[in-house]
Amino acid sequence: MERLFKNASIARADSPELEKADVLVGDDGVIKEVGKDIAGDAVSDCAGCVLVPGMFDLHVHAREPGAEHKETLATCADAALNGGITGLVLMPDTSPPIDTGNLVKSLQDLVFEASPIPMLVAGCLTKRREGEKLAGFSGMANRGVVMLTDSDRTVPCPDLLRRCMEYARDFHLVVTSHCDTPALTKAGAVNEGRVSYQLGLPGIPAISQEIAIDRDIRVAQHTGAKLHLQQISTAHALRAISDAKATGTNVTCEVSPFHLLLSEDDIEDYNTAYKLDPPLRLPTDRDALLKGLLDDTVDAIATNHAPHTEFEKAADFASAPFGVAGLETAVLSLYDRFIKNGVFGWDLLIRKYSVAPREIVGQRPVAIQEGEKANFFVFDPEGETKVDAGYLKTKSHVSPFLGKALAGAIRETVLG
Ligand SMILES: [Zn+2]
Repeated sequence: MERLFKNASIARADSPELEKADVLVGDDGVIKEVGKDIAGDAVSDCAGCVLVPGMFDLHVHAREPGAEHKETLATCADAALNGGITGLVLMPDTSPPIDTGNLVKSLQDLVFEASPIPMLVAGCLTKRREGEKLAGFSGMANRGVVMLTDSDRTVPCPDLLRRCMEYARDFHLVVTSHCDTPALTKAGAVNEGRVSYQLGLPGIPAISQEIAIDRDIRVAQHTGAKLHLQQISTAHALRAISDAKATGTNVTCEVSPFHLLLSEDDIEDYNTAYKLDPPLRLPTDRDALLKGLLDDTVDAIATNHAPHTEFEKAADFASAPFGVAGLETAVLSLYDRFIKNGVFGWDLLIRKYSVAPREIVGQRPVAIQEGEKANFFVFDPEGETKVDAGYLKTKSHVSPFLGKALAGAIRETVLG
């Protein structure tokens, strides 16, 4: 069945201006025509709404296989589509961890059965993410993994990391690091500083991430591997990445919407929905991340969607697990704070959350134009979304935005 989206405003990566047009999607799911006064059946009136290319999240924990009580591939896909996200990369820290070609294949089969959106697979750097022996690189590369990472663990031994990067370079795979120095992080729960002292919680110093970033960048420079750094949280880390880029290092980085929007000052009364890895840092760090997003030091936005059950997150702050659901609040929260207030436009969000992340893992960017597969969401800027059980499709109703209203509403996500 054809579908016609009438009177829409179309957002693009290369212009802050919105283009007024109708969009006709053919019964094969491909955009037939973009233009004025198109006639057709099955009309959706999009007056006042913006059509935005589908987002792509580089950093998602879907928990299947092994922790389906937290999330499944099917609920993760529902959440992604609900949040305007039409593709993502699955982290390999499942049970079992994805560290061989056969496990990549079985996860791809599960995705094929459960998910209406592309979910690309990342493989481990080391066997079982234990940081001791190399994982099965060639088998995983043959099965089409798009990145290699031990997920939330840093490879502890620099020599092993060096060998990981050498192999990854030869297989043309990006090495992804969630930078952390366990000897400094210890059992920390929040940023080390005023708030950790005030709340009486163990702190995670900024240097825990910064030292690991410095090391990984240096090993990438030495080996020539392509390095992607996850969840940058401090101004100093960003400066190190900027310096590395200036000398031609093959490095990219991501920030989360939470770290762009919140700081340690926002942590409400021991609310574990604010317990993130890395932790929320200082307001000056948050502001530096936004500046880095605007000046292109930050390449991509990625949520680190890390669902846990409400029961698990109901533990005391020090012992609750790190991470919260992110897929359904990313676009809305960034619209609410930044796009609505003119800090940046849809074009920047599309570049950072749709184009760049796809490019980092070798995928073609998507755009709303004739001949392309329909891949966009319908956004109502006048709408409002209450983040609650009625809205969320993820199993994990844990979010700093839970119970709050965000400006704008995603009416529908269209994919093929
Ligand atoms: Zn993660």
